Amino acid sequence: TQELHIVGGGMAGSEAAWQAANAGIRVVLHEMRPKVETFAHQTGNFAEMVCSNSFRSDDDERNAVGQLHWEMGAANGLIMEMARKHRLPAGGALAVDREAFSHSVTEALRGHENISFVEEEVTELPSSGHWIFATGPLTSETLGQAIREASGEERLAFFDAIAPIVYAETIDMSVAWRQSRYDKGETEEERTAYINCPMTKDEYEAFIDALLAADKTEFHEGETAGYFDGCLPIEVMAERGRETLRHGPMKPVGLTNAHDPQTKAYAVVQLRRDNALGTLYNIVGFQTKMRYGAQAAVFRMIPGLKQAKFARLGGIHRNTFINSPTLLDAQMRLKSHPNLRFAGQITGVEGYVESAAMGLLAGRMAAAELQGRELPPPGPDTAMGALVTHITGGAEAKTFQPMNVNFGLFPPIDAKGGRRGRKDRYKAYTDRAKDSFNQWLEGQS
Ligand code: FAD
Repeated sequence: TQELHIVGGGMAGSEAAWQAANAGIRVVLHEMRPKVETFAHQTGNFAEMVCSNSFRSDDDERNAVGQLHWEMGAANGLIMEMARKHRLPAGGALAVDREAFSHSVTEALRGHENISFVEEEVTELPSSGHWIFATGPLTSETLGQAIREASGEERLAFFDAIAPIVYAETIDMSVAWRQSRYDKGETEEERTAYINCPMTKDEYEAFIDALLAADKTEFHEGETAGYFDGCLPIEVMAERGRETLRHGPMKPVGLTNAHDPQTKAYAVVQLRRDNALGTLYNIVGFQTKMRYGAQAAVFRMIPGLKQAKFARLGGIHRNTFINSPTLLDAQMRLKSHPNLRFAGQITGVEGYVESAAMGLLAGRMAAAELQGRELPPPGPDTAMGALVTHITGGAEAKTFQPMNVNFGLFPPIDAKGGRRGRKDRYKAYTDRAKDSFNQWLEGQS
């Protein structure tokens, strides 16, 4: 029988190993810790939580990450099983005792008869055998360079530069309008690809004041060593001069306010479509290190975004990730080297849960392939399917940045009017997702 090699025993690699081993595949798990360390991990355990001890909301009716918990539980996920076993009281969130959690993931893997272990840093991409690379946001430097060479310079990033993402339906289109700068584009769709929010001088000045005053986070020690390529946060641009943003991402040129063509805006904030569904828009050039608490308040000062709801807030972190929309096929394989799969945060998802979910899928897909079958991904109306569909095709490749699971990734419900309350609508999404996920599981049994 053939072996499956998995590189990285983090959230994704641990889950992938568990799924494949349970399917009867012999797994070799390669992990460099504790021999080689990262700046964030503290132990040699598998599935170490490097920062917060929370898997976020556990509400599987009205929250997309809660729905993802449910799906991982339904698929016998090891990460969810151990998280629930070591749960700590935290309201609606699934918080865990991190030591006990990663210890029991480690024990479960070490006790599995189909899994063996190699303590080493993998430094190149193998040309033969079946492999899953799940080396995470802190992929070792040598391996990162090897992936960069195989994928092309521009297709592996060492930092994310996440601009906030807004649910399109929460943008006030009586204030904002659709237009590309200088009406550029071949088609009507391209000429109206951006949503523009105009600012008066007073609004701009107040916005700059708020940016300068907002609470910011710092890089971790060791995080920027030799990597940071100078992608500036907006608040740093504002610190360089009050006019800098007005001559940068907020420049008002080439745009005419459809609601008030006579008045020239003093500054314009642009939002760009972020997914094929057109449900999500990112604020162009607004990567930031403002704290989450400060971000929503500052961004809601932008005319047209007063009621905005955010699918994801902005950030900048050390984060190794590939341009999955161009590099991976729907089976999470590297198109140029189909013996290699990628899973976890390196595929451009963000967070413990999302990473483990992509490990679950990659592990099952690889196991099926080794057994001579092809396992299709779960439907795009499931949380897991929505996420993998986004990274392997639905996301805009040119501006691809890591993504959390959220309802904006799901095919919309209620397209033809009928305004249900938001809460009812979320329940409709998760009901539909559960049915669809169960069908996907049944197809495998
Ligand atoms: P990891 O869990 O990082 O696992 C990757 C594994 O691969 C590691 O064990 C590493 O040692 C190993 N490895 C790397 N290179 C090699 C190699 N060449 N050979 C062999 N092994 C290798 N997410 C949250 O949800 N909440 C948070 O609060 C949070 N805080 C974070 C703080 C920091 C500083 C960082 C860097 C990330 C944070 N994240 C957080 C993101 C979180 O780390 C990931 O979502 C999750 O751990 C990713 O899972 P993964 O399996 O893809 O990677």
